[in-house]
Amino acid sequence: METTAADEVVGICRDLLRIDTTNTGDPRTTVGERVAAEYVAGKLGEAGIDVELHESAPKRANLIARIPGADRSRGALLVHGHLDVVPADASEWSVDPFSGEEKDGYLWGRGAIDMKDFDAMMLAVVRDWARTGYVPPRDIVLCYTADEEAGMQYGSQWLVDNHREKFEGCTEAVGEVGGYSYTVNDDLRLYLVQTAEKGLDWLRLHATGRPGHGSFIHDDNAVTNLADAVARVGHHRFPTVVTPTVRTFLEQVGDALQIDIDPAEPELAIAKLGPIANLIGATIRNTANPTRLEAGYKDNVIPGRASATIDCRTLPGEADQFLATLRELIGPDIEIEHVHQQPAVETSFDGALVDAMGAALRAEDPGARTVPYLMSGGTDAKAFATLGIRCFGFAPLRLPADLNFASLFHGIDERVPVEGLKFGVRVLDRLLRNS
Ligand SMILES: [Zn+2]
Repeated sequence: METTAADEVVGICRDLLRIDTTNTGDPRTTVGERVAAEYVAGKLGEAGIDVELHESAPKRANLIARIPGADRSRGALLVHGHLDVVPADASEWSVDPFSGEEKDGYLWGRGAIDMKDFDAMMLAVVRDWARTGYVPPRDIVLCYTADEEAGMQYGSQWLVDNHREKFEGCTEAVGEVGGYSYTVNDDLRLYLVQTAEKGLDWLRLHATGRPGHGSFIHDDNAVTNLADAVARVGHHRFPTVVTPTVRTFLEQVGDALQIDIDPAEPELAIAKLGPIANLIGATIRNTANPTRLEAGYKDNVIPGRASATIDCRTLPGEADQFLATLRELIGPDIEIEHVHQQPAVETSFDGALVDAMGAALRAEDPGARTVPYLMSGGTDAKAFATLGIRCFGFAPLRLPADLNFASLFHGIDERVPVEGLKFGVRVLDRLLRNS
């Protein structure tokens, strides 16, 4: 019997899990991406697919391959996955996080759902096409990136800044985080397709004051000035805003669960959603969380400067309004530095590709219904969207009803259901053939 993509995907995913691609956030200690990219290059090479490796820094490898489609005048579809993973503390795990162990119907390991599962699906699908001589309807650009987990400066952002010509003609993109199932009942599963991501703005606040001796009366203390501002920001609750994506999500989920959901009362609505409430809770308002404080060098010296970091996440279309409010809270005397900024992205939940996602899922799961959602975190889509590409999170997985999927992201005992992986590769194959 001939090998199929579903036969291969588990082995490929296991191989990838065994390559430690921990992204420490420090380029000196992040080394596995090159090994993983070479593994992918080897698998594509076996299938006769030409690949290019681009290193943004030593060992920080990104891979690009273009598979020509039947109609080259059509826009290309970008299919992307990152190869790095967040660190795992082996002492907390029930298995070695880099063993790729298979047990209880799951493949275990750091990256199993974020996102070596999808990396493996991409590979298995195009290798299957190469074996059978299949030509997709339009160009498919495969891209494997480094550094998604620590800001994308060595990965997708670097590619977009330095090799944007490689994405020439790409009109749409498919990557993480979406396409997974939420079981309503035996006959109905919602598959959440990510169509929007919140923006990210890491701010550093700098307060100044008059330096002096800690024993004196002192009315212009940088630490006090900073602490006041940080407390005002930290205690502030930004108002709820229901974006078009969240409105559609709430309506469709309300309909599926047969519960009354009033989009005018998003907090009450979300409280009714049970396990997916966590996922959606942060997508109805902007947030600003103080995360770091720095000041002083001696117990009896009042420093002249103090600084704090605020992790801000903004809804699509809300950044200006948000910053104006923040400026008011912080006050005029404190300087605001933008340390790292990524604007929110949002695309509409319509068009032929969206229809093809629904059709591909229903062909493999008759109880499937797709629902768009906004994610509070960020992915490589943020970088690719700056090229005008419509980005979707769609890494298909059918999950057991009782699995707490959200907790596995960057979590202990990260694992992917083996059957889910095989399901995913069949859905991805259908989607790409009908894209
Ligand atoms: Zn990821």
